[in-house]
Amino acid sequence: MTAHKILFLVLDGISDRPCPELGNRTPLQAAVTPILDGIAAEGACGIMDTIAPGIRPGSDTAHLSLLGYEPEKYYTGRGPLEAEGCGIHMEPGMIGFRCNYATLDDQGRVVDRRAGRIHGTEPLSQAIQEGVDLSPLGVEFFFRSGAGHRAALAFRGEGLGVAVTSNDPKKEGVPPLPFEARSGDEADRMTARALAAFVAQAEEILRDHPVNASRRAEGLLPANTVLVRGAGKMGYFEPFSTKYGLSGKVISAAALISGIGTAVGLTRVDVPGITGSVDSDLGAKVRAAREALSSADFVLVNIKGADEAGHDGNVREKVAFIEKIDLALAPLARLPDTLIVVCADHSTPCSVKDHSADPVPVVIAGEGVRVDRVTSFNEISCAEGGLHRIRGSSLMPILLDLLNRSPKYGA
Ligand code: ZN
Ligand code: ZN
Repeated sequence: MTAHKILFLVLDGISDRPCPELGNRTPLQAAVTPILDGIAAEGACGIMDTIAPGIRPGSDTAHLSLLGYEPEKYYTGRGPLEAEGCGIHMEPGMIGFRCNYATLDDQGRVVDRRAGRIHGTEPLSQAIQEGVDLSPLGVEFFFRSGAGHRAALAFRGEGLGVAVTSNDPKKEGVPPLPFEARSGDEADRMTARALAAFVAQAEEILRDHPVNASRRAEGLLPANTVLVRGAGKMGYFEPFSTKYGLSGKVISAAALISGIGTAVGLTRVDVPGITGSVDSDLGAKVRAAREALSSADFVLVNIKGADEAGHDGNVREKVAFIEKIDLALAPLARLPDTLIVVCADHSTPCSVKDHSADPVPVVIAGEGVRVDRVTSFNEISCAEGGLHRIRGSSLMPILLDLLNRSPKYGA
């Protein structure tokens, strides 16, 4: 018997370093995780450098590498992937940017880079999409809301460069910065001009928008400008289905991860109630994953909360969220005809409050897997497993081989 499907579960930033608060155990070691331990007991375990030893991955570059798209070749910055994740169809050559709605005071100084952590900006983004006109510059643009105060912008047109500065001053009490070309290239100057025109026109539309009028009436900060950063040119991604012969779906609350998924040709599954934080509705995500597997060969699921707890340096919250994940995973533990992979995209140690290059635990369970002696899913136990220490880019080839779909190398 051979499995035909793959459930690829990325527990974002779940791995860590020994925490003194936990008696020098990691949060994964300290947490009670019968489901993850059961998967480890029935699988082949290892540790994994998602990009390469000593390379501290971003979530974006790590996910590209795990999916078999070398970040050195495919990664062109966060902007285009974030734009793709916000629902803009990014064609190769388009320029993408990450944006924030922000608040300016009467003197034009930034008073809040997140516009009072505004939610529900869709009417604002729609008004900007309909009202701003960059056609005199020969630029077509797409502007969409993301989660909370976030949004994304994309440009399509001839002769646009990506070497431009951001208008985000990165602090409050000062005006936004002018957009400038980082080079003498006319293409970069053109993009800077288009960005300046975009923001000026967007501010006109935002000033008197009903959403902002009612925010002011409620004593909330208006979203009266847009900060733009992270310019990057969308590259060409060989479609996942061509590369592996598998149809695929992606389930993630983080726009960046869904953007990577759809950029490589996975179909995005939207799940109401998932937030990308520790309050996410994991049950809904797990049900969506089971459902997605009924119509796709490959399903990528990203669960984000543990990364957030790591960035906050909150050891107790990280342990508690790991236990919440474990409970939620029960319906996925033994799916017929399916290989399950559980790993992280990088470590996010609470002591570092950022990503580190420490290798992450990984387990593959299902038909045909050589079960090793590891019986708990954590950074230390998995290091003794049969997969030993692999790179993220080796994972898809290993999985394809277990599906008996790997091309033979040689005679
Ligand atoms: Zn991550
Ligand atoms: Zn992170």
